[in-house]
Amino acid sequence: MKILLSNDDGYHAPGIRMLRQSLAELAEVTIVAPDRNRSGASNSLTLDVPLRVLEVEPGVYCVQGTPTDCVHLAITGLFDTDHDMVVSGVNDGANLGDDVLYSGTVAAAIEGRFLGLPTLAVSLCGAAAGARHFQTGAAVARRLVAEMLGRPLDASLILNVNVPDVPYEALRGYRVTRLGYRHRSEPVVPARDPRGRPVYWIGPAGPEQDAGPGTDFHAIAAGYVSITPLQIDLTRHGALEPLRRWLEGID
Ligand code: MN
Repeated sequence: MKILLSNDDGYHAPGIRMLRQSLAELAEVTIVAPDRNRSGASNSLTLDVPLRVLEVEPGVYCVQGTPTDCVHLAITGLFDTDHDMVVSGVNDGANLGDDVLYSGTVAAAIEGRFLGLPTLAVSLCGAAAGARHFQTGAAVARRLVAEMLGRPLDASLILNVNVPDVPYEALRGYRVTRLGYRHRSEPVVPARDPRGRPVYWIGPAGPEQDAGPGTDFHAIAAGYVSITPLQIDLTRHGALEPLRRWLEGID
């Protein structure tokens, strides 16, 4: 059993290091991850420059590229032998609701799915500062991976797992959830560079809007691990017929 680990926080991030330690009890683990923080990279591939790979220590490869580049490269040619599963994380920050569209953590898992492997993304929710229980996220991942090895799920599922930032013993359990969604993002934050020219920081994500029972937001707020099964099809199937009828009005 060989598990490929990636993330969007970079190969040196504490979340992926703890994940490696934790999953090494179950399988042979390889890290292929970006050389720096690429959070928010979504499903981007680097097409205009080649990908450079450095083995920084045995079994740990850093790539000058995105999370999607890392998983793509690792599965389609970097190694002689195949991996059996892709695990992404433990991300430093939640990937709830609309976050999944921007997330490099989720993107790494999606790329594993595109290439035919069972996959999960794990994120640790919580404030930007303060004590962070990456150990809890890594333990949850180990538990789920062990279960997936014994009782395989439909291989087309992508599991988006979010974990409250608490000690493992304080978790209240597991909840299967749907994605909620947020209010629109906060405005950009204007600033000046040292030469007085205007620059802008992308602002924080908006607060929760749809966070009722059954959503990922709700499970996390109540102290549960949230597991959302994702699919790739973004088609709004209910709009196909109305749109066809609307198009009939166009000459
Ligand atoms: Mn991240």
